[in-house]
Formats: sequence, C-alpha cells, structure tokens
Amino acid sequence: MERIEFIKSLTSLTLMALINPLSSPAKGLHETQNKMPALFIGHGSPMNGIELNPFSQQWINLGKEYPAPTAVICISAHWLTNGTKVTAMELPKTIHDFGGFPDALSKVQYPAPGSLSIAKTTKQSIESTDVMLDYDWGLDHGSWTVLRHMYPQATIPIIQLSIDFRQPANYHYQLAKELRTLRDKGVLIIGSGNMVHNLGKIAWDKMDEPNYGYDWAIEMNETFKKHILSRNHTALIDYQKLGNAAQLAVPTPDHYYPLLYILALEDKNDNITFFNDACVAGSLSMTSVKIAQD
Ligand code: ZN
Repeated sequence: MERIEFIKSLTSLTLMALINPLSSPAKGLHETQNKMPALFIGHGSPMNGIELNPFSQQWINLGKEYPAPTAVICISAHWLTNGTKVTAMELPKTIHDFGGFPDALSKVQYPAPGSLSIAKTTKQSIESTDVMLDYDWGLDHGSWTVLRHMYPQATIPIIQLSIDFRQPANYHYQLAKELRTLRDKGVLIIGSGNMVHNLGKIAWDKMDEPNYGYDWAIEMNETFKKHILSRNHTALIDYQKLGNAAQLAVPTPDHYYPLLYILALEDKNDNITFFNDACVAGSLSMTSVKIAQD
C-alpha cells in the first residue's frame, strides 16, 4: 500500500472510531494462521544503519523471511523512561540519538507510520501497569537502524515500547509476557540491544578486526547462549549472579533488558536459533536470537 493511502486508511479508521465509540481499538489486528516470530537483535554501532555488512545483510534477509507483519513493536535499549510508554503518534520522527558519526547517518529518515490503534492494543494487553501513550518520542536508532534494512519501503507501522529504568530484570520479563497474544495477531515483536555491551571498555585499536572479543565477552556470549537454548530464563533474569564476566558484559542493563522481553514471549513449540553470533570491538556482542515456530 502506498504510504499516502495508508495514512488515508488510518484516518478513516480514526473516523470510524469516533462514529462508533464501541468499536474496538484492536481493529486491524486479528488472529492469523501463523504465530509471528519474536526477535532479539544486537544492533551494535549506529553505522550498521547505513552500512551493508554481514550483520545488516542478515537484517535484510529477516525482512524477507516471513510474510510482512501487521505491525512491529520494538523495545529499544535507547528508550528508557520513568514508567512504561508506547509511542502513539501516527508519524513517528526519526531520532538521531548519537553523536560523532558522519552526516550521512544523521540525514537518514525512516518514515514508517506509527499506529494509535496498535498503541492502544498494546496498552490494553498490559494490565500489570498503566502504560502511557506517548506523542513525543519516535523511532530511535535502536529501532530504525535495523528496521530500515528489514523493511526498506517503510510501510509497516512501527511502535516503540519503552523500558522503565526504575524496574528490575524480573519486572521486565513478567511485563513482556503480557504481550504474548500479539504474536498470534501478526505483530512482530523485536527487542533491540546487545547482550554484551560495555562501551567503557571498547577496544578502539581493534575496530577494524572483524569479530574481535575480549575473553570475558566471548565467555559471556557463550554463557548467555547456553542458558537461552536450555530455556533457563531464571539464570538470565538473575544475570548478576553469573560471575565477574557478567558484571563486565552488562555494566548497565539497558542493552540487556530487550533480550528478556523476547525470551518472555517464547512458548514451548518455539525453536530457538542464533544469528549474527559474533563479538565486535572487544566488548560488544552482536549475537541475536530468533524465536519461531519453524
Ligand atoms: Zn545501542
């Protein structure tokens, strides 16, 4: 659908809601035959948003692997808030929330639509807290650097769900469980962060060396994968008990919590696979997780 037609259809849906106040805000979402996958994506450097490299090539492939979703909900490491918010604007702006990168990156626009109705459905799905509708944020680089590769036509509605920075790991895991039914309604849920993410220890002299990781980064990458495959979510929620390497890998939890959101969406019939399984720049891992019925 052309973007302008899409906006028109959204407008008519909004009008319908005004005319019929009993109409459900969940319109547009309905049970689909196949459960959508859930993805944790290691986003790494913002430059991945404009570079064609082995990581971004995987994102391109992912966008072609499944039927187009009805909408995408992205939990980005770069939207930390007091309370939980969901973007509700119809045209979210592209946020360039980084510094020191080339102009070409700062000029990127990803004009995907938002969706008030899907924001409301998301809010209604989560009963454990009062999710706030947000009209100020948009798409930060945790979202758009990945999504512009997956869906370059920018026609699929994208909304972001924020991370309440005051809350502990288990809170996020439990909250994410309330999003499970959206997988049956054609919604693709993506957590965007990095399992191993310590910017203070980046190996600047090894930036050009592909797949370079410190010993502790490689160790934690393997430990996280082991627990993900064995579905030991308790160990992953209690990651701070995983020793010294875990303290180095996750010095702050912002890039780790999106993983917990995705693991919480798993059901027993899901297969778990990894992609972009690599450490970079010493202290980051790009390792990504696909949870899917195929
Ligand atoms: Zn990041």
